[in-house]
Amino acid sequence: MKKKQLEMLLERLEGFSNPSFQKEQYATPATVAAEMLFLAAMRGDLGTVCDLGCGTGVLAIGAALLGARSIGVEIDGKALAIARRNAEKLGADVDFIRADVGSLALKGIETVIMNPPFGAQKASSGDRAFLNSARNIARTIYSLHNQGSEGFVKSFMKPCIVQEIYRIPFPLKRCFDFHSQDTKVIGVELYRITC
Ligand code: SAH
Repeated sequence: MKKKQLEMLLERLEGFSNPSFQKEQYATPATVAAEMLFLAAMRGDLGTVCDLGCGTGVLAIGAALLGARSIGVEIDGKALAIARRNAEKLGADVDFIRADVGSLALKGIETVIMNPPFGAQKASSGDRAFLNSARNIARTIYSLHNQGSEGFVKSFMKPCIVQEIYRIPFPLKRCFDFHSQDTKVIGVELYRITC
């Protein structure tokens, strides 16, 4: 499959019906998801994959469409219901699990691919729990963060090593009332980390 084809398929997925601001529910745009997944595929990292905080399932489903054995973990039952419908719509075989990433015991995962809550809304930022969980279950981690997270991610993840940082344009659509423009492109950073 070509990247553009994957993008077009992922474009068709249903988004969050009533996104929770507290849980920082924001679906990864199809262009960004396809970019992340192709980078992982090129590196041979799409064996057994887990998407932590899978939301409506875009990353877990995309990984399955590229041939991975794919697992999606999400705390919110409503989001998971949408993710299941989305997987069915595209005929993607994904195991969805309802769980808190903070109390997850999964075995046999090679790669975590995730777009965690950025932690911008809370002092005890959500991305820490996700990074911790990721390193407990996988050797290779792809994680999306705000621009300028390099210092934090590198020191927080020690002794795991940040192998690459990719800068990806991220079209942010208006979805919460306080966002003023309809779409604005922000820069995000995708980290490839090995443990
Ligand atoms: N990965 C999805 C959604 C990103 S939004 C995508 O790329 O489109 C972050 C998701 O993490 C939300 O769906 C939110 O409900 C979920 N989440 C937040 N805290 C969580 C936790 N402790 N355990 C599991 N999921 C969590």
